[in-house]
Amino acid sequence: MVTKRIKVYGIVQGVGFRPTVSRHAASLGIKGSVANLGPYVEIYAQGEEDTVDEFIRKIKEEPPKRAVILKTDVKLVEKEDYDSFNIIESGKTSGEIFVSPDIAICDECLDELFDKNNKRYLHPFINCTCCGPRLTILDALPYDRERTSMKEFPMCPACEKEYHDPDTRRYDAQPVCCNDCGPEVFILDDPDNRKGRDAITYVRKVLAEGGVAAIKGIGGFHLACNAYDDDAVKRLRSLKNRPFKPFAVMMKNREEVLKNCYIEEYQESILTGHQKPIMLLKRKAGSEIAASVAPENPMVGVMLPYAPVQSLLFDYDDGIDMPSCLVMTSGNLSGLPICRNDDDARKEIASYCDVILTHNRKIRVRADDSVMDFFDGKPYMIRRSRGYAPLPFMMTKPFGGTVIAYGGELKNTFCVAVNNLMYPSSYIGDLTDLKGKNALIESTQRMCTLLEAEPFYAVCDLHPTYNSSAAAEESGLPLIRVQHHYAHILSCMAENDYTGDCIGISLDGTGYGTDGTIWGGEVLKCSLDGFERLGHIRPFLHTGGDVASREGFRIAISMLIDIYGDDAEAKAQSLGLVRKGNFKTYKAMHDNRINTAVSTSCGRLFDAASAILGIRYEQSFEGEAATSLEFKALEFSGQEFAAPGLIEGDVITTDKIISRLVSGMENGEDISKLAYEFHYLLAKGVAQMAMEKSGDIRTVALSGGCYQNKLLTKLTRDELTKNGYNVLIHSMVPPNDGGIALGQALYGINKINSLNK
Ligand code: ZN
Ligand code: FE
Repeated sequence: MVTKRIKVYGIVQGVGFRPTVSRHAASLGIKGSVANLGPYVEIYAQGEEDTVDEFIRKIKEEPPKRAVILKTDVKLVEKEDYDSFNIIESGKTSGEIFVSPDIAICDECLDELFDKNNKRYLHPFINCTCCGPRLTILDALPYDRERTSMKEFPMCPACEKEYHDPDTRRYDAQPVCCNDCGPEVFILDDPDNRKGRDAITYVRKVLAEGGVAAIKGIGGFHLACNAYDDDAVKRLRSLKNRPFKPFAVMMKNREEVLKNCYIEEYQESILTGHQKPIMLLKRKAGSEIAASVAPENPMVGVMLPYAPVQSLLFDYDDGIDMPSCLVMTSGNLSGLPICRNDDDARKEIASYCDVILTHNRKIRVRADDSVMDFFDGKPYMIRRSRGYAPLPFMMTKPFGGTVIAYGGELKNTFCVAVNNLMYPSSYIGDLTDLKGKNALIESTQRMCTLLEAEPFYAVCDLHPTYNSSAAAEESGLPLIRVQHHYAHILSCMAENDYTGDCIGISLDGTGYGTDGTIWGGEVLKCSLDGFERLGHIRPFLHTGGDVASREGFRIAISMLIDIYGDDAEAKAQSLGLVRKGNFKTYKAMHDNRINTAVSTSCGRLFDAASAILGIRYEQSFEGEAATSLEFKALEFSGQEFAAPGLIEGDVITTDKIISRLVSGMENGEDISKLAYEFHYLLAKGVAQMAMEKSGDIRTVALSGGCYQNKLLTKLTRDELTKNGYNVLIHSMVPPNDGGIALGQALYGINKINSLNK
């Protein structure tokens, strides 16, 4: 007889870990105990040594479905004799903590939801140990009902019985409830006081008739309308004042997705999996999705229902004929954090919709939908949030200490690093106003509570006026500042668990450079300790200040003046670039440096190229001109182009690429070919710079918002791998500003470790 103590670390709370362990013990006749100790589950197993080892193998190889085991620790111990195997109630210790993300409704619960004989028939909050809200209802760990927003809903005797019975699917499932004891849906501020069934039927009616509804889900509100009805979608666009930016849609089931979109084999398991991100899929030619859902865009963002109330929107027993596809866009003011309570909804989105369906289970932490693109048969994350955050990334390097990184200004996320674990947060949004900043501060405090983390340092961007940096300053912690584009590269290194030296190609919108100018097209030599700017794209003038980021034609004109001098006016006119006012005004601004800034922003270079090719002269949302340019290029089936020498010292001569586009336009060449050539030459240029200056470094990391562009990613990577370089790219962390907090956190934790040496 031996006794072994097994500690299991990872997502082991609220996923039915203890009952599974208890079942394995029963099947093998093991005696002992299992306890949930917050960061880990502690098991004592007593029996013949072979049987105990078999038991340990079973725990590792047959854990509960939603558990994520990150490590186990087994030790032989002396213990008195046990007479049975017992589950011990939650205790609390400190250490490495894992908070589970929210989990989409599981198949068993979905079956019960539509089973007339089930006691949870049509219950909008059905869940079990395999599914349901987690992070978004959590106040503190360990994960127990009284530390969640479900504590306001005492269980009825029937639910209580399931909750305490290890043989049911709801044993120890904290949000468990039913029609008798659970939260309730209702129409907000409704003179007729509709709730429960009446509320759901009413909302379905509004949607079926072409109206717009706001719906409170797991991590916040959505705005919904019939995605097959062009008029309904256009109305939502005009209400939201969002003319072109694509909307995501939610489809009733997998069959509906297959009818409308192409889906690759490797995407199937993600589509129906338990995280349910918005997936960017190629639309089929015969798709019924209204053109206004994603205007002039071959892709569409699609997800399946993940909250039971969303399934009920598609299926209910009220005889209403519902569309099988709804627009599901975040309920927020453009770019700001998603609304998570009724007051927010009243203030911010009530004017966008005809009805608000809410409920009385409080959302503690916002969780926007994650958005996933795909590159080379693998996920290529655009927004990492619900379903993924705050799962940590584990670095192999043994760092010690705790830091908190406040991220960037747009698409903000933050990241807490505890030793070698990096916990990127869910999506906060743009911090252009106080709501965003306050949401960031509140979320950082909550996350530190949940992780029992006490940061020694705060890490933030170099930019002097970012709200994220202001939030970091207000934390009162000593500050570490990190340059924006270096942080992008660090995030790619962190995701790839790479801590050596590398060349970083950071192609991005804008960020504050160490020389006070705007950077964004950078080749950097990077290590964990710092970076050196090896090269950059040809600086140009950002004319018109902030307006220039919406009006690419201004940048194009400014580039033409630099390249062609006195001939610029004729060129600008023939390319149709003078959209507002007259050329002389732009020339005067350029020559006298009025409201201009020096910039190497690759994002703005894309905008200018898009304008020169007549694809987009200006844009209504960030990235519009660049994505249109990419889609245009993808219409061309690639070939090799002659690439002129594109390096002069530390400058990538992107002006040569621009003049190539101009002469192409003058010769009447095919626009999709020119769009492709732009990508090709840019990729060649940055790769040449990286290789020329690489010394003995053979690893190159690609990051920054422009690398959301997969053609650019592919062309850059291919050029480098062809020449024997090892290329690090993103997968589960976005290349855009949503990823930089992770990079900042890595820099911070490394820095405090070197200080302590
Ligand atoms: Zn379930
Ligand atoms: Fe950036």
